Amino acid sequence: MKAHSGEVGVFVRIRPTANFSQDIIECLPDGQTVNIHHKKDTRKPLCPRRIQRSSWSFRLEGVLQDVSQEEVYTRVCRRVVLGALDGYNGTVLCFGQTGAGKTYTMTGSTESYKQRGIIPRAIQEVFQEVQKRTEHTFSVYLSYLEIYNETLVDLLASLQSSAHPSPRSMVISEEPGRGVFIRGLSLHPVHSEEEALNLLFEGEMNRVIGSHALNRNSSRSHCIFTLHLESRSRTLSDTKYVTSKLNLVDLAGSERLGKTGSEGQMFKEAMYINKSLSFLEQAILALADRRRDHVPFRQTKLTHALKDSLGGNCNTVLVANIYGEASQTEETLSTLRFASRMKCIRTNPAVNEHMDPAAQIKKLKKDVQMLKEELSFGNTLVNRPSVPYDPLSEAQLAEIDSQVQRYLEGSLKEISITSVSQVRALFAKFKLAVHRGQEQKVNARLRQTYNLGEEDRRADTPAVKEWDTRGSTEEDEAGSFEVSHKNTQRPSSTRAKTKKSKDKQSQSKRQGEESPVSKKHSDSASKPKLNTVQSPEREQELQEPDTESQEPQESQPNGKEPFHPDSTLTKAEAFDDFKMGRGSKLNRILQENKAVLLERRSLHRQLTDKVNAVKREIDCTAATMQQYRETRGGQGRYSEPDDTLLNQLRELKALYRQRYEVLHEIKAEINYCQHLVDQCRVRLLSEFEKWYKKYSLVPEEDLESSMDNTLDQVSLPECDDNQLPPESSSSESFHNARYTMLRRRNTRSLCVTPEQRSSSSGSRQRTLPQIPPVS
Ligand code: ADP
Ligand code: MG
Repeated sequence: MKAHSGEVGVFVRIRPTANFSQDIIECLPDGQTVNIHHKKDTRKPLCPRRIQRSSWSFRLEGVLQDVSQEEVYTRVCRRVVLGALDGYNGTVLCFGQTGAGKTYTMTGSTESYKQRGIIPRAIQEVFQEVQKRTEHTFSVYLSYLEIYNETLVDLLASLQSSAHPSPRSMVISEEPGRGVFIRGLSLHPVHSEEEALNLLFEGEMNRVIGSHALNRNSSRSHCIFTLHLESRSRTLSDTKYVTSKLNLVDLAGSERLGKTGSEGQMFKEAMYINKSLSFLEQAILALADRRRDHVPFRQTKLTHALKDSLGGNCNTVLVANIYGEASQTEETLSTLRFASRMKCIRTNPAVNEHMDPAAQIKKLKKDVQMLKEELSFGNTLVNRPSVPYDPLSEAQLAEIDSQVQRYLEGSLKEISITSVSQVRALFAKFKLAVHRGQEQKVNARLRQTYNLGEEDRRADTPAVKEWDTRGSTEEDEAGSFEVSHKNTQRPSSTRAKTKKSKDKQSQSKRQGEESPVSKKHSDSASKPKLNTVQSPEREQELQEPDTESQEPQESQPNGKEPFHPDSTLTKAEAFDDFKMGRGSKLNRILQENKAVLLERRSLHRQLTDKVNAVKREIDCTAATMQQYRETRGGQGRYSEPDDTLLNQLRELKALYRQRYEVLHEIKAEINYCQHLVDQCRVRLLSEFEKWYKKYSLVPEEDLESSMDNTLDQVSLPECDDNQLPPESSSSESFHNARYTMLRRRNTRSLCVTPEQRSSSSGSRQRTLPQIPPVS
C-alpha cells in the first residue's frame, strides 16, 4: 500500500508584498510554473555567467501566491498528515531566505487563529481524525527539536519533571525498525489538540531568537516539530500496529553571509546555517542521483536528524519561500534551484507496520484454544474420541517405546494412530532405533577392526581373535598373546587369568541366553529359501549382506563361543564343528541356496511333466486330424478337419509355448542357483581348510589327502559338478564383494512371480521340441 509514491512534492510560496516585481517573477497561469527573468548586473560586468543567461523556468507542484494559510495547509500538508495517520512517515520542510515566510508558513501567527500555520492545523487535523477513526486507537507524542549552531536543543525540555537532559546528552541514533531518532529528546504524550498546542507554544517561546539585519524576529536555527503517532486496530488483529512520524521542519534562513552583514555571534550562526544547508543540498543531490549508493547524511546534525525524512520511506513536501521583491532575486533564484533539485528525489513511502510480540502470543493462545474447541466439537459430531493435547506422560512414552520395539521385532502387526503427538513420539522412537542399530554396527566394525571391547571373552578364547582376520594378524605380529596349536592353550596374559573364573560364569550365562538377533537368524536359517525370499524381512536381509557379514557375532551361532579344532577329532568331525561355529554363516547361506536350488528343480520337474503332457495332447490331436483327412481322402473327397479340432490344436500350441517359456526361465534360474551353491560350497571348504590348518596338528599332506572326504560331505547330492580349487585369503575381499552382488542378483531373480515370467515370455514362435525331464 502506497500513499504517495513518486517524487518529493515541491511548492513555492511567494511572500506578499506591495512591491511585487512582476517583470522578474512571472507566475504562469498553470499555477505550477514560475519564470525568473534576471536583469543584467551592471555592477559586475566582467562576470560572463550573469550576462549569458537571464531567464529561468521552474516547474513545481504548485506556486502559492496570495493564498490563505488554510489553502497552503490543504494543498501542501493535508495529504501528508492523513498519510501519517495511516502509518506513513511524512515531512514538510520550509526552506528559504530569512524573512521569506518560513515560520509564517510553518507556525503562522500565534495571535491570529485564521493565520495559524501548518503545525497547528496539522495538530488539529490529527486529533479530528483520531476522533473520527473509531476503529483504531491512537497514541500521539510530541517532540520539538532545535538545531542551533550544530547543537541539539530540546525545546520542550523545560516541561520534563525529571532532571532536564542537557543539550549535550542528546545524540542522533539509528535503530533497525525504529529508524533515526534523537536519544535524549523528550517525548510528550498528548491527548488533545489543546495539549499539543500548549506544547507547541511552549517550544516557540524557547526558540533562540537572534536579531538580524533583515528580520529581527527571524529564526537563526533549524526547528523540527515532530508528531509521533502509533495506531492499533480495534477490530482486526491486535498483534499488529503501525507507527509514523510527522516532521514539520522550519529551516533557518538560506541567505548568503555577505548579504546579512552579520558580525560576531551572528556571523557564526550564519556560518553554521550555511554549512548545514549546504550539506542538506549535497544530501539532496545525492538522493536525487540514483547511481549514488552513499548519501552524506551524517555530515551535519540537520541532515542526520532528517535522514529518514527526506526521501525513501517518507512522504516529503518542500515549501520554498521566496520574496516577491526584485532586490532578493539572487536569493530567490538560489531557493528555486534548491527546490527544483529537491523535486528530483524519488520517494517510496510504506506503512511502518510492527508486530507486538506480547499481543501476538495472546492472540495465538486464543487461536489455539478456539481450534481445540473446534476439533473437540468435530470429534463429537463424528463420534470420535477426543484428542489429548497435553504432552505425553512417561507411561505413554514407555508404551510407545514398547510398541515400536515389538513392531520392529515383528510381534506387533501395526500401531494404531491416536494423535499427532503420538505420531511424533513414534517417529522419534523409530529414529532412535535406527540410530542405535547404526551405532551397534559401527561398534561392531570397530571391535572387529581394532579388537576393542569384549576383552574378557577374547582373553578366554584366543580363537575369536583368529576370526577377526585383520586384527588377529596385527596382534600376532606384535606378539601380544600366544596361541599354542598343539594343545590349544589359552593365552598366558595376566589379564586373562585374573578374569578367567568370572568369564566362565558369564560365558555359561551367555550360552544359556539367546539374543533376539541371533534367534532371528537361526530361525530364518531353518526356513526354506523360497519362503524367505518372499518375506519382506528376509528380502531386506538378503539385500544387505554387506553389513551383516561384517558383524563378527554372526559367525557364532546362538551367541556361543566359536568352535576350534581339537586334535582328537577327525577332520570330518572338525568340519561339523566348523559348520556350527566359524563357518555357520557360510553354511547357512549354502543350505539356503541349496534349498532354493532344490525347490527350483522340483518346480522344473513338475513343469516339464506338464509341458510334455501338452505336447502329447498336441501329438494326439494332430494324429486325429490326420486320420480324419485320410478317411475323407479314402472316400474320394477332400475335406478340412472339424473347426473344433483346429481350435483345440491352436490352444494347445499356445499353452505349450507359454509353459515352455516359463520352463526355460526356470532352467536359467537353476543354473544360476547351482552356480551360487558351488561358490558357497567352495568358499566354505576354503575357509574350513584355512581354519583347520591353523589350529590342528594334522600335517599339510594329510590335509590335502583328506580334502576329498570333506568335499563329499558338503557337496549336494544333486550336484555332479567338479570341485573348484580353494581360494587364497588375499582374494577374500574380492569374493566377498562378488558374493554380495550375486546374492542381490539372486534375490531379484527369485522375486519374479510366475505371472511376470509368463508375461515376459512374449509370443515368440518356436518349434515344439520334446523336453527331456531334468535329472
Ligand atoms: P522566516 O521565518 O522565513 O524568516 P517569517 O515567517 O518570520 O520569515 O516572516 C517574516 C515576516 O513576514 C513575518 O512578520 C510574517 O508575518 C510575514 N509574512 C511572511 N509571509 C507572509 C505571508 N504569506 N502573509 C503575511 N505575512 C507574511
Ligand atoms: Mg523563521
